[in-house]
Amino acid sequence: MKENDCIFCKILKKEIPASVVYEDELVTAFMDVMPFTKGHLLVIPNEHGQLIGEIDEKTAGRMFEVGRKLNRAIRKSGIESEGVNFMMADGPAAGQEVFHSHLHCIPRNTGDGFGFKRPPGYGKMAERADLDLLAEEIKKNL
Ligand SMILES: [Zn+2]
Repeated sequence: MKENDCIFCKILKKEIPASVVYEDELVTAFMDVMPFTKGHLLVIPNEHGQLIGEIDEKTAGRMFEVGRKLNRAIRKSGIESEGVNFMMADGPAAGQEVFHSHLHCIPRNTGDGFGFKRPPGYGKMAERADLDLLAEEIKKNL
């Protein structure tokens, strides 16, 4: 997707409205228009990039720093929030629907109906040898 077609870039250019909560030179945070729960926020980089690996490290770090600030603000606010989920869908297979990287900050309450579905077969401990192989494969690509 090109930046010109990107709904989040349009929000950043103020071409479409958003309820902005925070903005600085690197990131912007605003209310999700289709919230999973009341108070659901998005933190996005000010520069277009689909995947978190395409976002420069300082900006990616700032996204989480701002997520932390928002988490504290939600908990201090009148929005009911027993907990908060941070979630990032990095690529279509992970559930990404807007192709401008974004960190979801989702207030949670017992019984709110939102959650992550575990895959079939979940619940079995992995073999240490398999974990070590995977760890090595990832480490050599750092
Ligand atoms: Zn964009």
